[in-house]
Amino acid sequence: MGKRIGLFGGTFDPVHIGHLRGALEVAEQFGFDELRLIPSARPPHRETPRVSAAQRLEMVQLAVAGVAPLVVDDRELKRERPSWTIETLESLRTELDADDQLFLLVGWDAFCGLPSWHRWSELLDHCHILVLQRPDADSEAPEDLRDLLAARSAVDPQSLQGPSGQIAFVWQTPLAISATQIRQLLGEGRSVRFLVPDAVLAYIHAHDLYRAPN
Ligand code: ATP
Repeated sequence: MGKRIGLFGGTFDPVHIGHLRGALEVAEQFGFDELRLIPSARPPHRETPRVSAAQRLEMVQLAVAGVAPLVVDDRELKRERPSWTIETLESLRTELDADDQLFLLVGWDAFCGLPSWHRWSELLDHCHILVLQRPDADSEAPEDLRDLLAARSAVDPQSLQGPSGQIAFVWQTPLAISATQIRQLLGEGRSVRFLVPDAVLAYIHAHDLYRAPN
């Protein structure tokens, strides 16, 4: 039988327990052999001032160190071009066996934006999509996604068959935490303890990240 591999992309600016707890719970529910967190590149002018892609990557590495089956995949940061998920999937597929199952995890807010992703209609050729609820987002599925949902949704997320092609909604402990909130707190000189792992907190302080310019 093929491996079961989860993929979770994001800017992780910084990574926080909303990402990590959701990833771990889904990995356990689905019995993933591996769940790869994939930090995305951003155009240099879109980086948070004074926080580089390399630093975002280091924080994710610290956050998942020793937490199997979570691992980090840095392929999007090694690429010169924008981080298109379809190209990440194509690149992963060249390294995997044909019967390996890929599960792309996306938060509900990110899922609603799917029709704007590069070559989005090809995504399900390479993976299943697992949509994570996000308590701080509350919209209905956009019009463009209704047909896709009607055709490809599985009622029971555990019933997804084959290497790719279906969509399921998954439950996880609701944690209304965002990186935006964390950057704001730090910018105001407030604590983010318990919103990020201790190792990430120590890194943020050691490198003096997300502080308001003075
Ligand atoms: P920002 O506030 O900077 O936009 P973010 O907290 O939304 O950041 P991202 O790195 O943009 O984090 O998100 C990566 C993925 O994680 C997305 O699919 C997003 O929907 C999901 N996600 C982020 N925070 C949560 C959360 N608290 N619960 C569930 N999913 C989340």
